[in-house]
Order: sequence, then structure tokens, then C-alpha cells
Amino acid sequence: MTVGVLALQGAFIEHEAMLTRIGVETRQIRLPRDLDGIERLILPGGESTTIGKLMVMYDLLIPLRDRINAGMPVWGTCAGAILMSRRIVDGRPDQPALQVMDIESRRNAFGSQLDSFETDITMIGLDAPFHTVFIRAPIIENPGPSCRILAQLSDGRIVAAQQNHMLATSFHPELTEDDRIHRYFLTI
Ligand code: GLN
Repeated sequence: MTVGVLALQGAFIEHEAMLTRIGVETRQIRLPRDLDGIERLILPGGESTTIGKLMVMYDLLIPLRDRINAGMPVWGTCAGAILMSRRIVDGRPDQPALQVMDIESRRNAFGSQLDSFETDITMIGLDAPFHTVFIRAPIIENPGPSCRILAQLSDGRIVAAQQNHMLATSFHPELTEDDRIHRYFLTI
């Protein structure tokens, strides 16, 4: 199995390192032809406005959307989750996005004092709490009826959700040593 990691901007090296550590072959995705033969895809964190623009420049937006809509498993972390969302709240008006998943993302939802923080969350499908890193993270809102909420903060804000073959997390599991969510993604 080859897992593609979108490598236009952001924390793609860290995802590749985690996948390599658990014995999975990876490929950096920059051009449409890089998608040939990949079975899964990770959209990393970074800056969603920049990644969206680069997707358009590199002619990746439509082929990526088509592959995901055709059922390729995809996992977006942070900016990646924003790019997957049906609607972006507090985005740039002209921000390009894939819009494949029936969730909304509120960008930079934690405000300036709590720009970045770490906490433990309980996530459905994991045997024990997961230590998470949030970096100028979005919150997932208004998940559609076919979405499953996988993790919430203690105040109820949603930070992980899944809709069939699509997984979205507000946080960055690739910046920890814990590979359980990467392993979970490989089972989808
Ligand atoms: N705030 C960033 C954005 O809107 C996301 C931050 C991240 O991916 N860590 O794209």
C-alpha cells in the first residue's frame, strides 16, 4: 500500500516519518500524476489558504476532489481538515478548498491567547487517551447526519470526525510519538 502525503506546504515530512516508522510506503504528492497508484491520502496541517492556492496552481484541486469523491480514504489534519470541509467559517472569501466532507471548519477557533496548546482527549476507536497538539487549530462544526463525531474537548467542541472514508482532526498527531491515529487511518 502506498499512502500519498500532499507536499505543497506544511507538516508533511512529519506524517511521512510516522508512516515510514510503522512500515508504510509513502509518496509526496505535488502534481496530478503523483496520484497514480496511491491508495490513501493525507492532507497535512499548515496554512489552508496557501495550500488551497497551491492546489489550484499545480492543477491538483479537481483530481484530488475526484479521487476522494470516488472513495479514496483521506485524512486531513488541521489545515487539511479545513480544506476538506463543505464550508469554512472565518476563511478568506476566495479561499480554494476541496469541499468533500459534510462538516464546517471554524478557522483559528481558539483565538490568540490559546493559539497553541496541548491536551489529552478521548477518541472513539482508541483504547486510551491521546495527547494532542493544537496549533492555531480549527473547530469542526455542524457535522452532517452521515458524519460520526470521534472526539470532543471537555466543553463539547468537536476536534475529530469521520464520514465514511474521510477522517478530519483539528490537531496534529504527527507531531507526537503516538502512532495510533495513523494506524487507525490505515484501517479505514
Ligand atoms: N490556522 C491554519 C489555517 O487556517 C491551520 C493551522 C494548522 O494547520 N496547524 O490554515
